[in-house]
Amino acid sequence: MIKSLKVLQHHLSKSENQLAILEDSGEHLHESFKKKADNIGMLPLKATGVEIFQINMGKMCNQVCKHCHVDAGPDRKEIMTREVMELCLQVLAHEDIKIVDLTGGAPELNPNFRWFVEEIRKLGKHIIVRCNLTIILANKRFHDLPEFFKLHQIEVVSSLPSFTQDRTDRQRGDGVFKDSIKALQMLNGVGYGKPDTDLTLNLVYNPAGAFLPPSQLALQKEFKTELLKTYGIVFNELFAITNLPISRFLDYLLSTGNYDAYMEKLINAYNPATVANVMCRNTISVGWDGYLFDCDFNQMLDLKVNAKTSQHLKDFDIELLNNREIILGQHCYGCTAGSGSSCGGTVAE
Ligand code: SF4
Ligand code: SF4
Repeated sequence: MIKSLKVLQHHLSKSENQLAILEDSGEHLHESFKKKADNIGMLPLKATGVEIFQINMGKMCNQVCKHCHVDAGPDRKEIMTREVMELCLQVLAHEDIKIVDLTGGAPELNPNFRWFVEEIRKLGKHIIVRCNLTIILANKRFHDLPEFFKLHQIEVVSSLPSFTQDRTDRQRGDGVFKDSIKALQMLNGVGYGKPDTDLTLNLVYNPAGAFLPPSQLALQKEFKTELLKTYGIVFNELFAITNLPISRFLDYLLSTGNYDAYMEKLINAYNPATVANVMCRNTISVGWDGYLFDCDFNQMLDLKVNAKTSQHLKDFDIELLNNREIILGQHCYGCTAGSGSSCGGTVAE
């Protein structure tokens, strides 16, 4: 590890330690992201509104992927309660927010997942579920998820880092590829991803190591060809996302001595044209305990929204949040490298 990086301090939480490392590198090692944004007149970076309400339903997951930015796994106990879900519903009932994006962990593991989906649909919102695929096979009680998704016209977004078993299992765990293929076939079976339905099935690719994703369009073409040829699987779009240097991926970068080189890769690929389109500008990210963040990444670093009197669902103030200043840091290079990266893939081609 680089000498001038702050060493881990045991009195700090993991997110505080990670933040200290990122900030230290912004001050001493690498160009500061904030300065870069300032140079193009984008500081302060302001929100443009709240169009997407992304809810992290808990950190529990049936998988333990190597680069998970949530640090999710079966042993995580943080899970959204029904009480916090009620607060989400109150906000959604009052505000003109059209898209609700459910994520985790595996959101389906939350015991109130189905009830929550039904209540959100009653409010007429479009729902995206970030489904890791293997959850559908994990237990008999999840086998009907494809039908449940279809019933509520849910848009399904699923990670699949490769169309080969070896690469997928290396990143996401033994047996994940086989179950993911089976789950994709089940989703196709009820109509997901098929050209003659409006049931959307999108895939997410992220790199297996300390490198940036290749062209999204080229990858999509390759995935479409290979998955159809070998497994008869169809899907709508593929989103190529960049691994942000936080959580488990930051641990990996630090423990393998790749941190400095990866940050330099991100900085060299910095594309000022992407800054205006970063996803935090039109999104609010809700933590499992009801706190509000600019994005899922800031959530993992415990950087609450810069709206002092509206940092929790209980005090949700749309005016304040619509006009808030986004909290930026060195990790934001991950969203602005190359064609940019967001939960919906690249932000500029
Ligand atoms: S990347 Fe997704 S599927 Fe993998 S451990 Fe994290 S939350 Fe679970
Ligand atoms: S990590 Fe990305 S989405 Fe989050 S605040 Fe930075 S630029 Fe915005």
